[in-house]
Amino acid sequence: MSDSTGLRPDLVSRDDAAVCRPPAADRATIYERSRPGRGSWSLPELGVPEVPVAELIPESLRRTRPARLPEISEVDLLRHFTGLSALNYGVDSGSYPLGSCTMKYNPRVNEGAARLEGFAGLHPYQPESLVQGALELMHELERWLAEISGLHATTLQPAAGAHGELTGLLIIRAAHQAEGRAPKRIIIPDTAHGTNPASVVMGGFVPAPVRSDARGGVDLDHLREVVAGGDIAGLMLTNPNTLGLFDEHITEIARLVHEAGGLLYYDGANANAVLGISRPGDMGFDIVHFNTHKTFSTPHGGGGPGAGPIVVRDALVPFLPVPVLEQGEDGRFFFQYDRPHTIGKVRSFYGNFGVLVRAWTYIRSLGAEGLRQVSETAVLNANYVMEGVRDLLDLPYGDRRCMHEFVGSATPLKKDGIRALDVAKRLLDYGVHPPTTYFPLIVDEALMVEPTETESKDALDRLVDAFHRVAQEARDAPDLVRSAPVTLPVRRLDEARAARHPVLREQFPEDGEGGA
Ligand SMILES: *Cc1c(COP(=O)(O)O)cnc(C)c1O
Repeated sequence: MSDSTGLRPDLVSRDDAAVCRPPAADRATIYERSRPGRGSWSLPELGVPEVPVAELIPESLRRTRPARLPEISEVDLLRHFTGLSALNYGVDSGSYPLGSCTMKYNPRVNEGAARLEGFAGLHPYQPESLVQGALELMHELERWLAEISGLHATTLQPAAGAHGELTGLLIIRAAHQAEGRAPKRIIIPDTAHGTNPASVVMGGFVPAPVRSDARGGVDLDHLREVVAGGDIAGLMLTNPNTLGLFDEHITEIARLVHEAGGLLYYDGANANAVLGISRPGDMGFDIVHFNTHKTFSTPHGGGGPGAGPIVVRDALVPFLPVPVLEQGEDGRFFFQYDRPHTIGKVRSFYGNFGVLVRAWTYIRSLGAEGLRQVSETAVLNANYVMEGVRDLLDLPYGDRRCMHEFVGSATPLKKDGIRALDVAKRLLDYGVHPPTTYFPLIVDEALMVEPTETESKDALDRLVDAFHRVAQEARDAPDLVRSAPVTLPVRRLDEARAARHPVLREQFPEDGEGGA
C-alpha cells in the first residue's frame, strides 16, 4: 500500500480516513470494555482467618457502594494499555522536527546505564563514602560540560533549562551586588525563547528588548542605543538563535555589553549546532546553560525530568549554588556547603541524577569526535530540508546557511486560505510530527524545522515529500487541509481548554454533567 516514499496517500483522504483509524472497539475506554463478572485476577485461598471489614474500618470511612472498577479479561486489559501506548506519537514513532526542542533519538545505552542498580538504587541521604562512584560521574560530567562550553565550573543542580536561566540570573545579581551595584536591565533580542524574559522577571530584573536586523542577528545600532540607556545588568542570547542563525557579530556584542558593565548569559538549550565547533566561553559569554534533555539526549516533552546545568566563568565561581562538588587531595569527592558568596540552594539534593547519568553516557559513548559529528550532521540535515522546501515556503533568511534548524514562513499558501497551523495539522495525517509553529514571533506564519542529526536521508526525504504533498493539497483541496487532521483519533482541539480543564476521569451517566 505504501509508495516509494513510505507515505500512505491512499489512507489520507477524508473519505478513506476510517480505513486507517483503529476500529471503534479498540478505542473504547476500559469502562466501556468492562462486562460484569469478567476478570483478570485469581488469588490463592486465604491461609488465615478472614477479618470482617467492619472490625478494621470505622463505619464513617467505609464506602456506601462498591468501588466502580472495570471488570475485564487479561487480554482485553493488555489491549487497552497497548492501544493507549500506540496513540502517543514520539521520537520512537517517526520524524519529530519540532524546532527548538531537539527531538533526537535517545540512545538505549543511556537507559541501560541509568538503570544500573548502583545508580538507580541510590538514596540521596547515603553518606558520601558510599556514593563515590556517583560523585565521580557527576564530577566528570561537570568537567566535560565546562570543556564543551569553554568556561570553568559547573553546577548540575538546575532541573530544566528555565531553571538554569533563573540560577544564572541570580548569579548575575549576586556578582553585581558583590561590587556594590544593582543594575536592573537584561537585554533580550526579539527572537528570544519565551522562558528568557520570564526568567529575567523572576530573577528580579527588567527585560530590555533589542531588535533583530535583516540578516537575523542582533541589530548592532539598536543594541548601542539600548546600552546607552544605562543600568545594564547583562544580556541573554541564544547562538545560534531561534531563527537557526549564528550571530555574525557576537564578539562585538560581547564587547559592547561588557563595556557597559553587563555579563553575558548564553541560552544553550539547543547546543546541537556547536558541539566541538565553537564555544560560548570563547565568544565572550560568562554563563551558559545546557539542556541535557535536548542536546545530550534524554526522552523529553511529556513533562518528565530534565536537567539544565550551568557553567560559569572563573570570576563567578564563588556565587554558584550549594552544595558544590569538590575533590579532596586524597582523591575523594565531597559536597561543600560552606561558601560565603553562594546564591544558596536552588534544588533539593543534587539535581536529577538519572538524567545526568544519561548525559554522561551520551558524551562518553560519542567522545569528542562523535560530538562534533553530531553537530555537523545536525547542520547538514537542517540545510538539506531547508533546500527541499525552498520552492514551497518563504525563507526570510534563506540566503544564509542555517545551523541546526531553520524558520520558514507559510505566507505563500495564504492566497489559498491556508495557514501555518493548517500545514502543521495536515502533516500529522502523513505520519510526521509538525514543526514548531508561530515562533519565533518576528516571522509571519512561522514554521520552525529542526530535523536533528539522527534522521536518515530517507526520513528527511519523506519529511520534504510530506511538505510537498501538503503544499499541493493547499492548491487542489484546501478544505481538506483546513479540516486536518482527518486520520487521527481526535481532530482539532481547543488546546487552551484541553490544558486548563482536562477530563481525566471516565464520565458515568449517573454522575450527570461535569461528574469529573
Ligand atoms: C527549550 C528551551 C528552553 C527551556 O528549556 P526547558 O528545559 O523547557 O525549561 C530555553 N531556551 C531555548 C532556546 C529552548 O529551546
